Amino acid sequence: MRRTALGPSLFCSVFGEWQELLAAQSSPAPLYDLLVRGGRVVDPAQKLSEECDVAIAGGKIARVAKDLPEASARQVLDARGKIVTPGLVDIHVHVYDGVAPLGIPADPNCVAKGVTSVVDAGSAGAHTFPGFRKYVVNVVDTRVYALLNISVVGQSTLSLDNPWGELLDLRYANPQLAVRTIEKNRDVILGIKIRLTRNLAGEHDLEALRLAREAADAVQLPIMVHIGGTYSPLKDILALLKPGDVVTHCFRGEEGGILDRHDRILPEVRKAVEGGVHLDVGHGVGSFSFHTAEAALRQELLPGTISSDVHQWNVDGPVFDLATTLSKFLHLGLTLDQVIERATANPAGTFKFPRGLGTLREGADADVAVFDLAEGKFEFVDSLKQKRLGRFKLIPVATVIGGRIYGSATS
Ligand SMILES: [Zn+2]
Repeated sequence: MRRTALGPSLFCSVFGEWQELLAAQSSPAPLYDLLVRGGRVVDPAQKLSEECDVAIAGGKIARVAKDLPEASARQVLDARGKIVTPGLVDIHVHVYDGVAPLGIPADPNCVAKGVTSVVDAGSAGAHTFPGFRKYVVNVVDTRVYALLNISVVGQSTLSLDNPWGELLDLRYANPQLAVRTIEKNRDVILGIKIRLTRNLAGEHDLEALRLAREAADAVQLPIMVHIGGTYSPLKDILALLKPGDVVTHCFRGEEGGILDRHDRILPEVRKAVEGGVHLDVGHGVGSFSFHTAEAALRQELLPGTISSDVHQWNVDGPVFDLATTLSKFLHLGLTLDQVIERATANPAGTFKFPRGLGTLREGADADVAVFDLAEGKFEFVDSLKQKRLGRFKLIPVATVIGGRIYGSATS
């Protein structure tokens, strides 16, 4: 068998150098297709955080155990010294590339970065969803799910040159059409998305949210609400939410966020969370403030899910990818296990995905991410250009999706 030693400074990108970590076996009838060997496996759904091997067969997780023999697998991916997690789940991205001006291609920004499943948060509305399904969901390698925008035009109207959003004309919010589209696409659509900022929804934000509520209740799915810079105060928006709904951009700075003038958590926010509303980070271009996050964490308010809101206007910074967003929370004091939980088990529990994901439990789809936990001095920037110096950074090394190493022609 062939093995290439991995020096401490060697960075293996998912686009090719991961092959250095691969060894092919010659044993006649191997039990497993792939063995991800010797990494620290962090799978919060199983309360697992220790060094072990992950064996894959037929596209499924076959076994997670210590010291599985290398000869039992056709290929071995050497993950010693690395972090092995379930394929990450990012519940707020924008991957309607070419139709929503903020869209980016899914695969180079998701599966290539350790994110095997994503939820596109409202890029498509009822009129543009058929194209989203045809040209994105059906053709990319990343597993793409969606929240349907309550506006029929989705996020096709807003660009840097045309700052007018999808709900300025309330006639575009059409619950009946949304319900019809969801009924036809329940395998992909997991909820309703609505953005309530003033340049997107004007002064009728609550009216628009009531229309989203009507559609969500009809199909029994949750709403994800984009908060901040709204005409109506947050407490009035929260009053329309139900258990299972999601507030994204929860740690935004400035007007319309979760803090009062003295940096205290608004009582209505606590009440909503205690009542079952999920807080989601949704970093985005204008929606994540270190100051807000630090104040919230000091008051022991943690986000339920950590998502990136990665799109055209933040993919080259300050977001870059989900791994960088997770690294910011390592800097903020969450443990590695807490951070991974918020990008695996928790998102898997936030929406009703049609297949089990976010865990390496035996029998689950073999979606696995391998990271370097690099130590050094890393500058992190939030949406308000505030900087923090972090000690650790998660760097994607390799992704396995459905048992196949992403980009690999060998299996
Ligand atoms: Zn977004």
